[in-house]
Amino acid sequence: MDLHSRVTDISGVGSIVKKKMEKLGITTIEDLLYHIPFRYEDFRKIVTTTQARVGEAVSIKAQVDNTSHIYSKSGKKMFVAELSDQFGKIKAVWFSQPYLSSIIRRGSNYIFSGRVEWIGRQKALVTPLFQHWEGSIPSSDKLIFPIYPETKGITSKWFRTKIGFLIDNYPELLKEFIPEKFAVGMMSFKDAVQTAHKPSDLEKVELARRRLGFNELLKLFITNQKRKENWKSHKSTAQLNIKKDILSRYEKMLPFQLTNSQITAIKEIFSDLQKTTPMNRLLEGDVGSGKTAVAAAACYAAYTLGYQSAIMAPTQILAIQHYNTLQSIFKNQDIKISLLSGSISKTTEGKTDIFVGTHALLHRNLDFDKVALVVIDEQHRFGVEQRTHLIVEGGKKGKIPHVLTMTATPIPRTVAMSLYGDLDLSVLDEMPKGRIPTTTWIVPPEKRVGAYEWIRQKIINEKIAVFIVCPLIEESDKESLKDIKSAKKEFENVRKVFPEFGVGLLHGRLKTPEKERVIDNLRNGKIDILVSTAVVEVGVDIPRAAIIVIEAAERFGLAQLHQLRGRVGRGNQKSYCLLFTQSHSEKIHKRLSLLSKHHSGAKLAQMDLELRGPGEIFGTAQSGFSKLKAASWSDFDLIKKAKNTSEEISKDKKLFTQIFRYFYGDITLLN
Ligand code: ADP
Ligand code: MG
Repeated sequence: MDLHSRVTDISGVGSIVKKKMEKLGITTIEDLLYHIPFRYEDFRKIVTTTQARVGEAVSIKAQVDNTSHIYSKSGKKMFVAELSDQFGKIKAVWFSQPYLSSIIRRGSNYIFSGRVEWIGRQKALVTPLFQHWEGSIPSSDKLIFPIYPETKGITSKWFRTKIGFLIDNYPELLKEFIPEKFAVGMMSFKDAVQTAHKPSDLEKVELARRRLGFNELLKLFITNQKRKENWKSHKSTAQLNIKKDILSRYEKMLPFQLTNSQITAIKEIFSDLQKTTPMNRLLEGDVGSGKTAVAAAACYAAYTLGYQSAIMAPTQILAIQHYNTLQSIFKNQDIKISLLSGSISKTTEGKTDIFVGTHALLHRNLDFDKVALVVIDEQHRFGVEQRTHLIVEGGKKGKIPHVLTMTATPIPRTVAMSLYGDLDLSVLDEMPKGRIPTTTWIVPPEKRVGAYEWIRQKIINEKIAVFIVCPLIEESDKESLKDIKSAKKEFENVRKVFPEFGVGLLHGRLKTPEKERVIDNLRNGKIDILVSTAVVEVGVDIPRAAIIVIEAAERFGLAQLHQLRGRVGRGNQKSYCLLFTQSHSEKIHKRLSLLSKHHSGAKLAQMDLELRGPGEIFGTAQSGFSKLKAASWSDFDLIKKAKNTSEEISKDKKLFTQIFRYFYGDITLLN
């Protein structure tokens, strides 16, 4: 048995339990040990039957004198055990658990742990936990009960028993795996596992969580390190000897001046492209910071040397947008651009210089001997899969293209470091000149009518376009049927409020040509108001859009709201973001008002992280974030400690390999 053994290697765990555990993300012994309780029930107060006071959580050692099934006044079936010790008697009752009669035996002694309440006119222990106990007083670890994230059919008691069994019978699982000097000031791994699952002292639980969290983060950094090594062990498809004047030639094609941070990013990318090892760089920048223009510069550089590039967008709509952007930047050049995206394709005669498509482009038969550069515009999902694919494909020939990944996910630097630690980072931290920060207001229900009137005047007088975003009904980054239904309802409602304007509806179930038509109509003014679900097309660029209304704004994280807000304020007219909320909670208003004051995505993400925790900000499906079990993304100190440790470890090749093996067993990392 080791950490990589499957849960089915534990005696008594079969395929049914295995399936249930998969729902909680548990497949290995390691997963199980890191499945830590989210709270503990403390029944360390041991009392006699006569000392038990109503309202207290206590443990009582007593003998079962008699058991029976009775019905309560409200008709609920109860199982009752009459208990006694040398001082007196008390009852214990359980509701709807008739099977207990075959488990709890008359004449035996148990420790009952639970809350004392009035049942009728008598004191009783209500639904207490119990354990068979003939000896003297048990130690504290037997009286603190961890409560785990459960799933149907797997209770906290089950976890307690199984994990306890592992701890007691397989000491080798808990062996320390890092040299002592790295664990200074921390609990040993063994103590941490024991304390997290069978604490005898609740004050130590936080230290245990910290150590397990450290391990988790360390694994992340070690993995990044290994990925980076693997990537660098390949050769780049082409070493691009970019001529000195390429940047200035490129700048002349643009209708605007590049920002300083765009120029810096382009220079960093050009320097990577000249290397024999393939580039693996992340370009991070808020919505609207101008990432596309940076990517286009890289494509242009490849083109001047006779190489092809491929740009991949997360959706067809964005692919089409990139295609149009590139067409317009390169309109006076002899650069051939092809759009290959699902049903839509616009190919040019002869050899293509730049391919544009969705992520499916990777799986089309592009000739990667000629494609020297791949740009992955990921919006919010992480490009790990795509990069892995490139390594696997390219690995066959020993060569992989240079890769530029772009993200607008506003994440604090420390978090970026751990998620993207295998990538080199360029940041666009300034907005193009002339952008006016979007004015953001919170709109309570009583001002809704007034707000609609104000919007009406804006549309009439300034011919602007308006987005109305419906809330996500379920926590998920995929749209559900319910979301679409509510968007349709809102669409009908908005049509009634604004009968004189063109109103459009956009949601994920629409076919691409239909989506494209709607977006075009918004762009060219056939539609003035677009009602949409929250998940679609964060990156659409509609310069005449100047107002965005977000319904039930309190349901979104600040970072998400900021991304949505980024759909307006892209042109040079004054833009507005109206946060509609029914909530009168002061806390919520305070949180939302941060959007009025701050205009940096990373800053807002950081504040949200502190206010609400990462799960809520990034949503569940955004891989990476939600996977942390013991550590927390807001624990910057621990993240830094793990990062430093991983750097120290990687200085010692042998140790690094040893620890990598510890984490992964015999699994080799593909990328
Ligand atoms: P994102 O970083 O969100 O992908 P885009 O690349 O879509 O942003 O750029 C947003 C808008 O800003 C586009 O209309 C683009 O033409 C414009 N833009 C990009 N760079 C600049 C700049 N340096 N000055 C002015 N406008 C710019
Ligand atoms: Mg973009």
